[in-house]
Amino acid sequence: MSLDCLFCKFVRKEIQPNIAYEDDEVMVFHDIHPQAPIHALVIPKKHIDSVTAIPSGDPIVSTLIDRAVKVAAKLGIAQEGFRLVFNNGHNGGQTVAHLHLHLLGGRAMTWPPG
Ligand code: 5GP
Ligand code: ZN
Repeated sequence: MSLDCLFCKFVRKEIQPNIAYEDDEVMVFHDIHPQAPIHALVIPKKHIDSVTAIPSGDPIVSTLIDRAVKVAAKLGIAQEGFRLVFNNGHNGGQTVAHLHLHLLGGRAMTWPPG
């Protein structure tokens, strides 16, 4: 838990995001600047800076993917397909230093990404 971290403030409910799903380990909320009709962020409640900071053997990534798939079904985009993205570090386009999995859907994605 980091006092200054925006997403930790969401977890503590000091700031209330638009929550799509929540349990003891994970919170999912809608992105404030959506890049697709559905754009949610799947975060661990415990603070981890990025994918490179995940302790070896920590199952958090599989937990995040499990919840992303469940939320995709709940939001009605599971059948059509969706994209899951971890941005990591400066060149990866990461702007918030609290691990988050982007869930994007509701339109056909393009490749390569920008
Ligand atoms: P990153 O750029 O680190 O991969 O993703 C961070 C995401 O957090 C961005 O898509 C950005 O729009 C989103 N974001 C930043 N500030 C807020 C906020 O205050 N509320 C919500 N819901 N999303 C935010
Ligand atoms: Zn945090």
